[in-house]
Amino acid sequence: MKRFSLLFLLITSFVLTNCAFRPVPNTQNDKFSFVFMTDIHVQPELKAGEGFKQAIDSINSIKPNFVITGGDLIMDALGVGFPRADSLFNLYDSLTKNIESPLYNTIGNHDVFGLYTKSGVDTADKNYGKEIFKKRFGNGNTYSSFDHKGWHFILLDAIGFTEDRTYFGNIDSLQMEWIKTDLAKVDKKTPIVISTHIPFLSAGMQVLEGGNAAFSSGGTVGNSHKVLELFKDHNLRIVLQGHLHIVEEIIVKNVHFITAGAVSAKWWQGLRQGFAEGYAVFEVDGNNFSWKYKTYGWKAVEVEKK
Ligand SMILES: [Zn+2]
Repeated sequence: MKRFSLLFLLITSFVLTNCAFRPVPNTQNDKFSFVFMTDIHVQPELKAGEGFKQAIDSINSIKPNFVITGGDLIMDALGVGFPRADSLFNLYDSLTKNIESPLYNTIGNHDVFGLYTKSGVDTADKNYGKEIFKKRFGNGNTYSSFDHKGWHFILLDAIGFTEDRTYFGNIDSLQMEWIKTDLAKVDKKTPIVISTHIPFLSAGMQVLEGGNAAFSSGGTVGNSHKVLELFKDHNLRIVLQGHLHIVEEIIVKNVHFITAGAVSAKWWQGLRQGFAEGYAVFEVDGNNFSWKYKTYGWKAVEVEKK
């Protein structure tokens, strides 16, 4: 008992001392930076591992406070058997160990295991679908949130499954409920960032095919308007997007929808629609932010034309 009291006293005085001398953090004025890197599609082919390592070295040199990935971490788990998918995730893990900042992973369609029937994977397989991602990166889940210096970050799972075993862009009803619960704990003035692999908003098809062109159900999230409605009383500032391997920014009602290129550009075969291998760097200062797309100087290997 005596020992307990002494311990209690020690803890109390430590807390009091800390409180007395630690300046009250003014989180709104705290500056920080983070990196959003998406569509890595790592694989042993086309020297992709070497390329990813070069991207990581480049990211480490700018010392961001943390790194968020936008999904499609590996080349593909959709249409392959377990040994190949497992080896790609191992490769991803072995390389991301070199990242010197905390890493938060968003799930992409290519991180889903065995969804395509051509993979030969049974839907009853214990690793089928999102199970590998959950185990390796998600603490048992595919979506999550965290806070940093007065900002709130939400990583979503935008991958829906169709009955004929393909994917479409969707935020499911369970996740919609989770977002409501998560937002209930967030002050209405707190700046919020969403990360979603499949974009909520993109002009990509209109740029390519004219003003009337639209994406298919796998290109963008079909119920994005319903998701955004959940944020109408909150301070949503940024929606980070991947999947399309293009760089664009669309601002609607003060929300910046940013599609941030691809670490792999054209799946490690050079420029994709004129966009090079790179990642997005964000500088945050209070409620404000700026960002740029940074290329890291990778030269894709020459692919023989057949
Ligand atoms: Zn994708």
